[in-house]
Amino acid sequence: MVSGFLSTLAMIVMTPVKGHQYGQLTAIAPAGKNTSGRVLWAFRCSCGNEKRMVAGPVVRGVHKSCGCLKRAALKLGRGAQGARNGNFKHGKTSSPEFWIWIGLRRRCIYASYVSYPRYGGRGISLCERWRNSFENFLADVGPRPSAEHTIERIDDSGHYEPGNVRWATTAERINGAAHRSASLGTPFVTK
Ligand SMILES: [Zn+2]
Repeated sequence: MVSGFLSTLAMIVMTPVKGHQYGQLTAIAPAGKNTSGRVLWAFRCSCGNEKRMVAGPVVRGVHKSCGCLKRAALKLGRGAQGARNGNFKHGKTSSPEFWIWIGLRRRCIYASYVSYPRYGGRGISLCERWRNSFENFLADVGPRPSAEHTIERIDDSGHYEPGNVRWATTAERINGAAHRSASLGTPFVTK
């Protein structure tokens, strides 16, 4: 009975709660098992990436992101331990701006990410000044005005660099896109 109780307890402890956030990972839904029979869940990372991961280590806090945090830390020379502890300069890993910056790196640098083809894949780059420095990025763009705001490129074919980005809400982005396509002209208004 004791072992039965323990295994039930282990299952409870290891099973993510849908919608709950573990580190930077939000549990979305069960996603089957891996080849070793371990339970997988789909998680959404704060960087925007969605990934199927073994659930246990996420629930226990061993894995705190989709891998982007560790990768960024290694790139910045702060080591995997630094990533685990969130030891980025100024302790800013909990800020929304940090995760937006991680997302920009993902889109522009890592070809394995889903959204890379729409950004890095078509030549959109993250400038040298921001590429490996969250501090520079934050200093240039400033704090996010509200939770509704994300980083928008002013010229859609331009890069993520000072002078070509601004904080915009979804509504502003749609208006901006409409304005851009209108300014390009359409076949219907040729004289
Ligand atoms: Zn991530």
